Amino acid sequence: MEVIPIAPRGFCKGVYQAIRLAKQTAKENPNVKVTVLGQIVHNRYVVEALNKYDIQTLDDPKFSRFELLSQIDDGIVIFTAHGISKIVREEAARRNLIIKDATCEDVLSTQALIESARLANQTIFYIGKFGHPESNAIMESFQQVYLIEKIEDIPSLPGQPEIFVTNQTTISKNDIEHIIDAIIKQYPQALIAREICAATRLRQEAVEKIKLADSLVVVGDPASNNTRMLAKIAAEHGIRHVVLIESIEQLDTTILSSDMRVAVTAGASTPQKLTQQVIDYLKSYDFEHPAELPRVDIDTLLDE
Ligand code: SF4
Repeated sequence: MEVIPIAPRGFCKGVYQAIRLAKQTAKENPNVKVTVLGQIVHNRYVVEALNKYDIQTLDDPKFSRFELLSQIDDGIVIFTAHGISKIVREEAARRNLIIKDATCEDVLSTQALIESARLANQTIFYIGKFGHPESNAIMESFQQVYLIEKIEDIPSLPGQPEIFVTNQTTISKNDIEHIIDAIIKQYPQALIAREICAATRLRQEAVEKIKLADSLVVVGDPASNNTRMLAKIAAEHGIRHVVLIESIEQLDTTILSSDMRVAVTAGASTPQKLTQQVIDYLKSYDFEHPAELPRVDIDTLLDE
């Protein structure tokens, strides 16, 4: 069996910086409650590992981040790399919580573009995923934004002079082009700012370039948008067998065969150690005497 690790894979700079900020905050404030508002990244192992540093995560998909914030009475609140809305930011300050903001600079740059478009009185189309924290922050901050998940969501606005179009940083670069084409057809005057971040784009392009793999193992949490997009793009590019696993603990070894070429990648929210464990296990796989699947070591997962 040939194992092909794909590069780049795993943590992007925004995720790396967010986790580092959380760990540093807890270390410098040993007697203060530290709470992350929402999952710092969409990866349950990371959330579990942060607990070991006395960093709590407050997350419930049934509640918005504004609603969740009301459950934090004191201490430090960390905003995640996905960004946060103005109203949550203002409410946290009003309640005298200490704010640590891990919003990724790429997300901040998209938010700044939208703010400029708002000031210029442009109508704003935001291509993103409903319910995702990054798009939620945009929709909560800007009343006049239309969220577009699919072509059918493009509104009909006859006579609209200026339309500004941008997008969530972690969506599929292929899906977005179909939607942008449809927008331009309807609104030839639309100004387009493609904002897929470099980390997401490079990971998607690397998957598209795999030519000879029979299978692709994507390591990451199914809740992570950029992880799911990697699996989707690989399937669209004709890789016959694509599996998404959260860690080595979920690997189904019955899919392996000695003559296969298996590529391995990971979403931007997947710790390197989780992916390396999969690569190492596959590389040393003995079809005569297969080793037991190892366990994930949460205690050392976020060690640098
Ligand atoms: S995926 Fe992109 S936007 Fe999101 S944290 Fe990473 S670099 Fe930033």
